[in-house]
Order: sequence, then structure tokens, then C-alpha cells
Amino acid sequence: MGGNDFRGTCRRFLEAAFDLLDIDEEMRQLLETPYREVLFELPLKRADGTICVFYGYRAQHDQSRGPFKGGLRFHPDVDMEHFVALASIMTWKTAVVDLPFGGAKGGINCDPSKLSRPELETLVKRYVERMDSLIGPDKDIPAPDMGSGAREMAWIVDAFAHRRGFNPGVVTGKPLELGGSLGRLEATGRGVAQITALATEAEGIDLDGATVAVQGFGNVGSHAALFLQQRGARIVAISDADGAIYHPSGLDAEAAARELHDHDQPSSALADLDLEGEQISNTELLQLDVDILIPSAIGGVIHKDNADDISARLIVEAANMPITCGAAPILEERGITVIPDILANAGGVIVSYLEWIQNRQRYRWAEERVTAELEKRLARAWHEVCAKAGEHGVRYRLAAYLIAVERVKRAVEMRGF
Ligand code: NAD
Repeated sequence: MGGNDFRGTCRRFLEAAFDLLDIDEEMRQLLETPYREVLFELPLKRADGTICVFYGYRAQHDQSRGPFKGGLRFHPDVDMEHFVALASIMTWKTAVVDLPFGGAKGGINCDPSKLSRPELETLVKRYVERMDSLIGPDKDIPAPDMGSGAREMAWIVDAFAHRRGFNPGVVTGKPLELGGSLGRLEATGRGVAQITALATEAEGIDLDGATVAVQGFGNVGSHAALFLQQRGARIVAISDADGAIYHPSGLDAEAAARELHDHDQPSSALADLDLEGEQISNTELLQLDVDILIPSAIGGVIHKDNADDISARLIVEAANMPITCGAAPILEERGITVIPDILANAGGVIVSYLEWIQNRQRYRWAEERVTAELEKRLARAWHEVCAKAGEHGVRYRLAAYLIAVERVKRAVEMRGF
């Protein structure tokens, strides 16, 4: 899905909420348009002496409820439209789970696997230089996203410290040694499993023995699979970018996830794990007749041309925007329940918030405290979304957007212009 399609999908979901809330044109424009879009050149002298010109991006969507918050994606195919849509999603995500943050997203159009470690470090630190006064613990707080992780966040802490003094709250998702939080790595997947458990209960699906297909076995997908298996679900298929493995009686996803994370870096090399099962494609995985489908890889994988082929009863959006606005009404008509990304994968930003709090306190919480706080906040958001869905007779996605838009709109109005 291209950047424009992402933005179109985001806009369509938002407009449904704007219509129901009877929001006027000016406010719609304010809520939809990003506060700031930053695009800058990032020239890099490679080890062989050649010069490569990359581009750095940051879309800062909204800061009415607190500092901008959102990940940094390092991928060759990114563009500003992608980041604007993803930044907007962050605004609604932080609002629906009631965190005192706004929304942002950014990154660099590079393939990190094609750069040496020193080259990547230079690029990341140059990104911080260019963003200069636009990031900071009370301004804009980046975090890892696809292509970045704790190592890159450590480089950002360093680059920021050289300019403005040591303050680990400038980013989240850091290594523990530099102020990272216990429980952050698995937080998004843990949250996906918790929301899936709550949704199955609400939808009358018995999670014990329920069949689950997980597309994308990276950080989010592997942890979601691990925690769902612990809750009794049967993980019948998992995949990475190269393909999927299917075993109708269940894969040992917990062992696979543990094996991946033992190496401390989620790898996409499923083929390296010794898993029994039939090799199928990612397309076939999406069509499996399972109780629960969890897209945990990239955006736009369920679109109007394959929505009719989906057989799952429940889809939990662990990835950001895995369902396009063209597919959403088809799934709805077919009676397939969808738990939207802004709620389903909010566990990560919730624990990022807890990390930021710990940084401000200069105090590390025990993992049990982090997990308990995550679960409490996510359960509260779930119950609020269910109540809103019941009140308006709408699906979960629209209910989540209604709550989020109302919260941001109130903040905008209270602060004035
Ligand atoms: P990751 O890089 O750790 O894992 C991504 C996985 O998807 C890998 O297994 C990769 O092989 C697979 N993949 C990539 N391209 C694919 C394709 N075309 N088809 C099938 N599989 C493919 O990333 P992650 O951190 O697990 O993030 C996954 C998704 O969740 C992204 O959409 C991200 O924006 C979203 N998300 C992540 C977090 C977080 O805390 N990491 C939080 C919220 C949302």
C-alpha cells in the first residue's frame, strides 16, 4: 500500500467518527492535518568514500494532549504520506488509551541492513542534529519502529546528550542500561494477547483451543503468539516476509518465540527454526479457516481484493493499518469482527509512557508493576470502547475513534488557538 493509500484509509476511518460527532469543517481540518512535517537531507559518506544522500522525515501530527510521540522507521520505501498517516494513528492511539501524549512518526529512507554499524550510527546521530530543538522529553519522544530498535535509541540518547545534556526521556524503547523499562520489548505482543482474550470473551469465542494464525513473527507477532499460547490458544500458522508455516494441530509458537528472543534481536528467519508443518504462502495464511487472524507485519495486507477470502471470525490488528478502508466494509458485511490497531497494539506505547515516567522519576519499576499497569490501562480502554460501541450501536473501530477524537477535540478547544 502506498503512502497516499495509507493516508486515505486513515482519513476514511476518521471521517466516520467526525460525521457521527457532527464535527464542523474547521475542526475536521485541524484534527486531520499534521501540526508539522519535517523533511531534510541526510548525506552520508560511506566507508568506500562514496556519498549517499538519504532523507530524514518527521511528521508531528498533534500535541494537544501532550508531547508528540511515535516511532522511527528505517526503510527504503518510506515517504511523507506514510509518516503523516502513521503519525495520525499515533494521535488516536495515545488518546484512546488516555496517555498524555500526541502523535508523531518519522524515520529515514534507508535499508539498515545495507549499512555498516558506524554508517548507521552516523546517520542516526545526524538525524538528531537535524531535528535539533524539535525533539526532547517534553516536545517529541521517538521510539523504535520497523528497522530500528534499542541500539538506535541509545545513539539518540547520546546525540541528544551532547547537544542538550543527558536526559533519557528523549526516547523510549532504550536498552535497560540507559533507562529502558523492563517489559517494553514484549509489551505490544502482551497487549495484543490481552485484547484478544477480552475480545474473544465478548464475541463468545472460547480462547482455550481457539485456532490462531499470526502473520509476521517479529517482535509483535512472536510475543502475541507466545502469550496467546500461554492462554490456551492453538497457534496453527506463523509467517515472516519469506513465507508461512502451517500445522493444523498447533505449532510450538512459544518455543519458537523464545528461541528468537534468546538472541535478543527478533529475526525474520523462520526457516532457521526447526518447526514442523506445511510451508504455505502469506496469502494462504490470511485465508486460513481459523478463529482468530492476527496480522502483525505490514500495512494494507487485507484489501478489497482479498477481503472476501478471509475466513477468520475475529481479526486483531497487531500491525498498523493492516486492513484498508476498502476492505473494512466487506469484512463488516461478512460479520467478521475487527479489533482496531489503535487499541490492539497500544500496549507498546503504554509501556513507552511507563518508561518515560520512570526516566522522569530516575527510578526503575519492577517488571510486575509495569505489567500490572499495562494490563490495567488496556483493560480500561477496552471497556470504554465496548461501552461506546454499545451506546452508538457501532463497531469497535468506530467506537475507538469516537473516544479518541472526542478527547483530542476537547483538548484543542480547551487550549484555544
Ligand atoms: P519486526 O520488524 O520485529 O517484525 C516484522 C515481521 O513481519 C517480521 O517477521 C518480518 O519478516 C515480517 N514481514 C515483513 N514484511 C512482510 C510481508 N510483506 N509479509 C509478511 N510478513 C512480513 O516489526 P514489529 O516491531 O514486530 O512490528 C510489526 C508491526 O507492528 C508493524 O506494523 C509496526 O508498525 C506495528 N507495531 C509495532 C509496535 C512495537 O512495539 N514494535 C507497536 C505498535 C505497532
